[in-house]
Amino acid sequence: MKQLKSRTGVALGCALLFAAYFVTARQGLLLGAVAGFATLVWPPTGIALAALWVFGSRLWPGVFAGALCVNLVAGAPLPAALGIAAGNTLEAVAGVWVLGRAGFQTQLDRVEDVVALIIGPAICSTALSASIGVASLRLARIVSSSATVPALQAWWIGDMVGDLVVAPLLFVFLGRQPLRGRRWIRAEVFLLACALVALGLLVFGNAFGGSISLRRHPYMLFPLLAWAALRFGQYGAVTSVFLVCGIAVTGTAMGFGPFAHPTLAESLLDLQAFTSVAAGTTLVLGAAIAERNRAVSARDEFLSIASHELRTPFTALSLQVQALIRRLRRPEGIPSRDELLVDLETANRLLARVARMIDELLEVSRVAAGRFQLQREEMDLAQSVRESLARFEKQLASAGCRVELRLEGKVTGHWDPVRLDQVIDNLISNAAKYGAGKPVEVWLSDRGEWVVLGIRDYGIGIDPADQSRVFGQFERAVSHRRFGGFGLGLWITRRVVEAHGGTISLTSEPGHGSTFTVELPR
Ligand code: ADP
Repeated sequence: MKQLKSRTGVALGCALLFAAYFVTARQGLLLGAVAGFATLVWPPTGIALAALWVFGSRLWPGVFAGALCVNLVAGAPLPAALGIAAGNTLEAVAGVWVLGRAGFQTQLDRVEDVVALIIGPAICSTALSASIGVASLRLARIVSSSATVPALQAWWIGDMVGDLVVAPLLFVFLGRQPLRGRRWIRAEVFLLACALVALGLLVFGNAFGGSISLRRHPYMLFPLLAWAALRFGQYGAVTSVFLVCGIAVTGTAMGFGPFAHPTLAESLLDLQAFTSVAAGTTLVLGAAIAERNRAVSARDEFLSIASHELRTPFTALSLQVQALIRRLRRPEGIPSRDELLVDLETANRLLARVARMIDELLEVSRVAAGRFQLQREEMDLAQSVRESLARFEKQLASAGCRVELRLEGKVTGHWDPVRLDQVIDNLISNAAKYGAGKPVEVWLSDRGEWVVLGIRDYGIGIDPADQSRVFGQFERAVSHRRFGGFGLGLWITRRVVEAHGGTISLTSEPGHGSTFTVELPR
């Protein structure tokens, strides 16, 4: 989804956001608002957060105007309405800012994204809006001192539910994550929806005119919410939470269900506390399921790539050996010493390739468990780089990559030479592999307490969307048909650099090459 940039786009976005905000806010204010303004049902918070995140914070005037108008229409004096509108706008902008800092992704398919949403916008930025809003009402003498705490509570929880029920629904559906089809999926969706509605009505409604005597425990809904998240991921989680919330609010507003108290505000306060917990739990479960599914498919893909990768050199090796045997059996005599040497060297290179792959695979469990110990000693990075270039001389030459090495100052330090060899080897072999036969530049420079190693190629480059991902385990940004590899080199490299207290960064442009910069403290 693109952020709106053009003036017309922003103006149109603001107008639509204003309309959505105004209409949903008006409905919310009609539902037992404390002191007429602090309501427990406030979907606009979620709409504003999702709209500003997806289409850009430039849509804030839509939030401001919507909040201002709806409060003026509800009878707030202008200064109070301005204060409330400022608080609501700040809530959305701050929520988006926190999500940005947390590296939030709209699909909510990582537990860290759900936790960021719960802690940032849902808990913290709503507290900001509640404080500013209730303070404005206090200054305008609309809320008495005894009603301050109930108003604060209502405002805060109402906004929180907006962020936990409405925003995730918009995030997931606007993110348009593909949903893997399977047999009987429609029938299962239908069954789940029927079960949710039936149980929702039994718990929160007056189903069958109350003729069924039932202990109306709201937690009876949890197995169905879990079913939705387990089988349909975040689509199931957000939709079922929204559905249950809708039924629960309607039933409670009509005076039914386990949360019905003498006043509507009291009833909704209890209900919305339950809704927040149910929504947060279901979203975390949905994200955990998505993570598990990704891990399982990454494992399956890895197994197929690994077997393919290991098979290729073995097939070549076996052909090489068969050819050698045939030559030795030739009636015209055995091959010369030089011919034999060429064949054996080729076989040896293939064996070395297999050994390197197996080493890389063995390294995974050690590095993942953080079980590698650095054996630090005084060393010269320039020496290691020269040796690595010598090791990859043949590979670089056959790829057609000419290497230029620049050395600025003294680049010695207290590091683990074996581990740093791995780092340099990975970066240089990648430059040869993805460098498209263009020159490769390697430089080392002395920056006082730090040493910098840079490797630049002019090859295929990496798409900006993949640039942080390629440092992950088994992550690749190329097809395995075109380039072999396990997607482990950069992951190991980063782990080793970070274990030394250093950093690795990447700048790259697709089609124009990549630069990896390693900074190491001495
Ligand atoms: P592998 O090369 O075995 O796939 P790495 O972890 O070394 O694994 O690299 C991960 C991915 O990063 C690669 O699959 C490739 O898509 C991308 N990549 C790494 N280095 C470069 C480079 N110099 N130029 C372009 N892409 C690169």
